[in-house]
Parts: sequence; structure tokens; C-alpha cells
Amino acid sequence: MQSPAPGPSAGGPAAAGGTAADYRQAIRFTPWGPPLLTHWCVWIEPASGAGPQAWLESRWLSAVDQALASWTALLPITRVDEPERAHLQLLRRRPPRRAEANGRLRASHGRAELTVLEVQRQGRWRLEPSLRVLISPDQRQEAIQATALHELGHGFGLWGHSPDAADAMAAVPGARPVLQLTARDRATLDWLRRHPSPFGQPLGSPPPAGADGRP
Ligand SMILES: [Zn+2]
Repeated sequence: MQSPAPGPSAGGPAAAGGTAADYRQAIRFTPWGPPLLTHWCVWIEPASGAGPQAWLESRWLSAVDQALASWTALLPITRVDEPERAHLQLLRRRPPRRAEANGRLRASHGRAELTVLEVQRQGRWRLEPSLRVLISPDQRQEAIQATALHELGHGFGLWGHSPDAADAMAAVPGARPVLQLTARDRATLDWLRRHPSPFGQPLGSPPPAGADGRP
């Protein structure tokens, strides 16, 4: 559950009172803007084959497939076979433990790591988000799916947490794994995608008009 360093621009104003329709106030951008693409290429680590781990691997694949399907319903996502072609790599491994502020090491089942790259495509240099999403196979299947749903949300640009445990992007998971995106998750993504983003655009070009804008 790693977030990028908070940029200077945060989300919009919080909704006043009552239950908010989204959690935009929790979302942070990179210093360049929101790390969004108009089209994502995703690679999922394949099963290694037979052996005693085979059923664990197929269980993991099934769970992360279902999590990715929830996002594919909302975003243009293509599965690719070559990891080097992917903006986002989904990896079957337990994230390393991380030190908390009190010095203790905390284990987690998932993590999304964002790196900003300059890449050359069609002869032009562009900024691109590059993501490694680590999902541990050592959980129940529903928990793997819920972890993947949450970490993929970070990967696709939702760098922040909902205060509501019912949401897929909850800061603190509730007792039951959240397997589907809620209306608030979707509304926050819709709000995010209305922001112009320099990612994927040729460097030095004027900022695009919106999510679909092309210079
Ligand atoms: Zn998180």
C-alpha cells in the first residue's frame, strides 16, 4: 500500500457533511499531475507450470483475473504477453515488510509501486507511469481478489484511500473482503479521469484538453 510522494496538487475540496459521493479529497497526484493513461497495457505473471505449487498459482491467477476484470469494465486495458511492453506488471509475490514510523516491521499482502519513466514511442519522448503490483499468493482466494482490486486501483491512478471500509480503496479493510468496486470508487475514478494528464503525451507538447485530449 505504498503511495508516491505527495505532489503539490491534492484532490478537490471535501464534500460538505453527510456521506460523500466520492473520496477525491484523499487522492494525491505526482509532481507532474495525475499518473493516468488513456490506454493501459497490463501483464500478469503466468503460472510456472506443474508441481506442488500449481494449484496455488492457478488460484492466484483466477483471483487477480477477476480483480482486473472489475477495472477493465471501466478503463481501456489490454493484457499483453511480454512484461516489457506493460505499463503495469502484476506479480505473484509477497511484498517485503516495511518499517513503520515506530520502527516496527509490518507485513502486507499487496503493494503498488509507481515509477515515472521517460520512454520513446513513435519517435517522441513521453512520460509514462510504470507500475509493479505485488500480490501475495499466501491468502484465501477472496482476500487475494480484494487485495488485487485495491492495489490495482492505486496502479490505475487512485493514490489515496477512502475513509469508508465498504469501498475497495478503503484505508482500513473491513471484516469482509471487498470484491467489487462501489459507486464511490467509480465516482472517484471518474473525477480523476476528468483531469488533464501529461502522461503518455509527447514531452514539450501543450497540455491536452482533457483525458481524451490529443495535441
Ligand atoms: Zn492502499
